[in-house]
Amino acid sequence: MTKIKDVNFKGKKVLIRVDFNVPLNHNRQITDDTRIVESLPTIKKVLNDGASVILMSHLGRPKGGFEEDYSLTPIVPHLSKLLNSNIIFTRDLFGPKTFEYAAKLKPGEIILMENLRFYPEEIAGDVEFAKKLASLGDAYINDAFGTSHREHASTATIARFFPKAKYFGLLLENEIENLEKLLNNSKEPFTAIIGGAKVSSKIDIIKNLIPKVDNMIIGGGMAFTFIKALGGKVGESLIEEDKIQVAREMVQEMMLKGVNLYLPTDAIVSDTFSNDGHIHVVPADHIKDNMMGLDIGPKSCKRFAEIINNSQTILWNGPMGVFELDRFKQGTKSMAIAVASATISGAFSAVGGGDSVAALNQYNLGDQISYVSTGGGAMLEYLEGKELPGVKAILDK
Ligand code: AMP
Repeated sequence: MTKIKDVNFKGKKVLIRVDFNVPLNHNRQITDDTRIVESLPTIKKVLNDGASVILMSHLGRPKGGFEEDYSLTPIVPHLSKLLNSNIIFTRDLFGPKTFEYAAKLKPGEIILMENLRFYPEEIAGDVEFAKKLASLGDAYINDAFGTSHREHASTATIARFFPKAKYFGLLLENEIENLEKLLNNSKEPFTAIIGGAKVSSKIDIIKNLIPKVDNMIIGGGMAFTFIKALGGKVGESLIEEDKIQVAREMVQEMMLKGVNLYLPTDAIVSDTFSNDGHIHVVPADHIKDNMMGLDIGPKSCKRFAEIINNSQTILWNGPMGVFELDRFKQGTKSMAIAVASATISGAFSAVGGGDSVAALNQYNLGDQISYVSTGGGAMLEYLEGKELPGVKAILDK
């Protein structure tokens, strides 16, 4: 697999699929430009080679036609400032101007195309649409890890038109290297910390991780399905009745494979799902009928932190409690601190998923983690052992 650092794009027109799907406020101002900033190394590498770039992205989920709210217009001045360069913005993807601009594009020049999802063909992975996009450039780079689990025209189909000139961008390459290190080249002990609301959304990850990890810490709402499966009383805590049997099977599988399973032993319970209820700390498997567990308790925080601090490889996905509410954020906060401090002591740590990353940033710990993934859904699918269409399209011969 040729890496872009080993390619000289001089004189080429390079199509780059970026992820400019940034959050905007109601005035359509960018509230977090991380995704744009993270795509700069790839764009700069290509420009510095003496090539021109044609940037493709999506923003949000328009219904399949133009909608002002999803236009990439706000990106233009911001990107222009970051790159200190003019940006040619083509609103009509396949209008005569686009082809005219692309044909005349000189080294160093940049085109940004309007939101590809204004065309239903993008999400459909349409071949003709991909072919038209492909006709604009001489090479294709996919740097949009966050959408690489989607088989869309600009993330997957387009690659087939560049059998000898398709590459991973630096961001995507880095994501894959880190995920591979985690799944196939990890130092022991390897601890996975899995949290979040529902066990149903994490079953495939847990199953894929069982043969790879030494310790499995399970917190968040999903822990209660496990606790109930093991005979505990969980009151009104979040439960997925139809997943109790699967939880039981996963516990058995962990025992068979010698994986240490750590469930919370104590929980912070409340009589309402809010900051205003009566709260107590109780054993996590003895929750009264009218109470619900909304965070892991202090003993669990301490125990989990010890396991994390004795690990060489750590993966964290999903909050330990309802961290959006002040009274139930401590479990998630203590995981963020434990993962960061283990990393400072030399462990390799990987964190993914919107909530865990948000928690890290809230406590300014993002910089202390070895690898923070930019793609929630894409990272989860990779960890589930699935082949991502955007990755496969580049690797296919
Ligand atoms: P997920 O998207 O599956 O990772 O779940 C994230 C959500 O899980 C967050 O919004 C948390 O508030 C929620 N969550 C975490 N712990 C609990 C809990 N004990 N009860 C209910 N929801 C929870």
